Amino acid sequence: MSSLRQKQLVKKAHGTYGVLLFTLEWKEKRKEILKRDKHVCRVCSSTEKLQIHHRQYHYSLTLRKFKKPWEYPNKLMITLCEKCHQSGHNKFKVPIKYI
Ligand SMILES: [Zn+2]
Ligand SMILES: [Zn+2]
Repeated sequence: MSSLRQKQLVKKAHGTYGVLLFTLEWKEKRKEILKRDKHVCRVCSSTEKLQIHHRQYHYSLTLRKFKKPWEYPNKLMITLCEKCHQSGHNKFKVPIKYI
């Protein structure tokens, strides 16, 4: 897969994520991860503006779409504060796993 195509996929996934993050399924999953991480950022221990970060995105080649944000195993999600989350995304590209 070309890297341009990959970029487009990520962009698309993020667009969808924006909407999906307001769903009940995600709220429940988010609560679960926050609880596991004791409501602190795993990088700087801040308790402000916590967000959940996905370490990987899974793209299903058969369904031709990304998994829903709450369909990932918990170990692929971590709690980060807004600041660490943003700087993480600026530094690293989230790997996409094709499944
Ligand atoms: Zn932080
Ligand atoms: Zn993230």
